[in-house]
Amino acid sequence: MERLQKVIAHAGVASRRKAEELILEGKVKVNGQTTKELGTKVGGSDRIEVNGVQIERENKVYYLLYKPRGVISAASDDKNRKVVTDFFHEINERIYPVGRLDYETSGILLLTNDGDFANMLMHPRYEIDKTYVARLKGIPPKAKLRELERGIQLEDGKTAPAKIKALSIDKKQNKSIIEITIHEGRNRQVRRMFEAIGFPVQKLKRERFAFLTLQGLNAGEARELTPHEVKQLR
Ligand code: URA
Repeated sequence: MERLQKVIAHAGVASRRKAEELILEGKVKVNGQTTKELGTKVGGSDRIEVNGVQIERENKVYYLLYKPRGVISAASDDKNRKVVTDFFHEINERIYPVGRLDYETSGILLLTNDGDFANMLMHPRYEIDKTYVARLKGIPPKAKLRELERGIQLEDGKTAPAKIKALSIDKKQNKSIIEITIHEGRNRQVRRMFEAIGFPVQKLKRERFAFLTLQGLNAGEARELTPHEVKQLR
């Protein structure tokens, strides 16, 4: 359930302030009844009229995309590069990504048209775990990985403690694959963390977002979140 003025504003009929005025002036009907209460809560199936015209309600939708490398995490790009919403041509809702992955990073990305949901997931207070798999040039010594686990000083401050797992060490080819779990979401954070210990990331993929994984998807494929998954994330 959402507040009436918010639903009217979201439908693009009026600003939130103007929607409140319209309600107070008796110009808004819910299921045929004039409603002058600003706090009125309405659900998805309620019929809302403003000045006698029924408003279009946009369904809230929630998707999980396996973002390939070489795609911008935005709804449009001024340089005309491929963007994550290009994978959703068949849907009518105006969705946008929840946070972002770098152009060269692949992996799990949520997209929605639910602004409250997106803001909540991106808020540092919720500390949602995100797990990345990084291919590194070289093999970082355990002590260096411990530095990341404890938190490391970056130019925008010290990072929160991270969880680290060495997945593969290839001495012959001098490369390694390290899994790292963080709950912050600073710009290029994982790349900068590994750079800070002297082992640049060559390839980066986000494998998990909270309890969600890429299971069943190939790069460039998406699926809807189930109502249960959406509820668990809230
Ligand atoms: N950290 C990075 O460095 N890049 C991403 O895309 C996500 C997290």
